[in-house]
Amino acid sequence: MRYDVMIIGAGPGGIFSAYELAEKHPELKIAVFETGHTLEKRKCPIDGKKIKSCINCPTCAIMNGFGGAGAFSDGKYNITNDFGGTLYEYIGRDKAIELMEYVDDINCKYGGASTKMYSTAGTSFKKICMQNKLTLLDASVRHLGTDINYIVLGNLYNELKDKVDFYFDTPVDRIDKLEDGYCVRCAKGLFEGKYCIISVGRSGSKWMEHVCEDLGIETSSNRVDLGVRVEIPAVIFDDITDELYESKIVYRTEKFEDNVRTFCMNPHGIVVNENTNGIVTVNGHSFEDESRKTDNTNFALLVSKHFSLPFKDSNGYGESIARLSNMLGGGVIVQRFGDLERGRRSTEKRILECTVQPTLAATPGDLSLVLPKRILDGIIEMIYALDKIAPGVANDDTLLYGVEVKFYNMEVKLDENLMTKHEGLYVIGDGSGVTHSLSHASASGVYVAQHIAASL
Ligand SMILES: Cc1cc2nc3c(=O)[nH]c(=O)nc-3n(C[C@H](O)[C@H](O)[C@H](O)COP(=O)(O)OP(=O)(O)OC[C@H]3O[C@@H](n4cnc5c(N)ncnc54)[C@H](O)[C@@H]3O)c2cc1C
Repeated sequence: MRYDVMIIGAGPGGIFSAYELAEKHPELKIAVFETGHTLEKRKCPIDGKKIKSCINCPTCAIMNGFGGAGAFSDGKYNITNDFGGTLYEYIGRDKAIELMEYVDDINCKYGGASTKMYSTAGTSFKKICMQNKLTLLDASVRHLGTDINYIVLGNLYNELKDKVDFYFDTPVDRIDKLEDGYCVRCAKGLFEGKYCIISVGRSGSKWMEHVCEDLGIETSSNRVDLGVRVEIPAVIFDDITDELYESKIVYRTEKFEDNVRTFCMNPHGIVVNENTNGIVTVNGHSFEDESRKTDNTNFALLVSKHFSLPFKDSNGYGESIARLSNMLGGGVIVQRFGDLERGRRSTEKRILECTVQPTLAATPGDLSLVLPKRILDGIIEMIYALDKIAPGVANDDTLLYGVEVKFYNMEVKLDENLMTKHEGLYVIGDGSGVTHSLSHASASGVYVAQHIAASL
């Protein structure tokens, strides 16, 4: 079977490449290969009753399938160059924002129009943050919410399914370079194409490493973010989340001059497990639907760890720390801030008596046995700094879940068109190490599609 364009991975990057190509060039023969299932077949077996924790399914319904890792996410599309990736370093700041706005228009067209766009422009919180040694980063954020995000993805699939050949439950084994394109090998056979776009996200990182090795593509890797997810009564952060929804706040610690930052804020949301290659870490969601909102808000506090030579395996370091928490707690550990400060573990009884009701059934324990001191000290300092702009964050009953790890894919060496040294072979989205977010990954998909279209 021969195609014009073969796309590997049906996450936001792959979907937006396919969408752009199919819309603008309906004459093209396009294939999308995806390890996971179709959207409606993606179902995580954890129901909180019979199955309470991850059973390591052969294909993770949360991370793989149409919609990628973003399918059940909170659907926060941040339009900014300040975080979410470094796409602007390749394509320029204006182009990156233009494409993120273009993606937003498409999301609105396919079901997201009723959702709210929040912005930091002109907010008084910027000054309040500065006065308390905190920095509020600039961004606009479209909050689709998990429910509307799912609807948008369903509508995009309906739009694409007759224009693109989708191969679900089809992990690509390897890619070979041909004289006039590429050959993709998978259980369903051999497929050839002139162009190949790889968009395999975080879950495809190990596979991506092999592809780079096989094809002699240079890579580099030196960063991992570690921390905890904080859960507080929503009312404590309402002033900020009502106006901004998601605020990215950075604090420079006094002790070590490390940067600690808030990440993935979920007002009235829930804390969830995340499984990456069999390691259970923590994450968060929230819903647009009023009936699914909770009384709690959660967000991560993360510290970036950059390594220098000779150590190269930053993700391996993050995985080891996550494994340690899995070893001690059988999964995610939860601890009251008051217990952490008093140097004692949390117990079932203390969590039960807690005024903040946990939204995730995690194992009460001691995060100081898991996280390196320097990282934990930074997180504690930041909790007190946040307490100044939102009194109550440093309450004894504030819940900390750990560990939250933000793994970064190794960075693949790409040119300004996101193309590898091999003509016609592109790497986009989180799998490239260039992006770490829905909007950047989607924008990179559109960008590459437009580059291919221009070179046809
Ligand atoms: C729980 C959760 C919540 C999140 N919330 C947000 C949020 O609110 N806002 C935000 O900006 N970001 C969020 N993120 C991150 C966001 O989902 C990712 O940045 C985004 O999905 C990256 O898109 P992508 O297309 O690059 O990769 P992915 O979405 O990871 O998609 C890659 C796809 O490739 C497939 N694949 C992998 N290897 C192969 C192979 N060998 N052959 C075939 N297919 C393969 C995978 O199955 C997957 O479906 C969240 C992530 C998670 C897990």
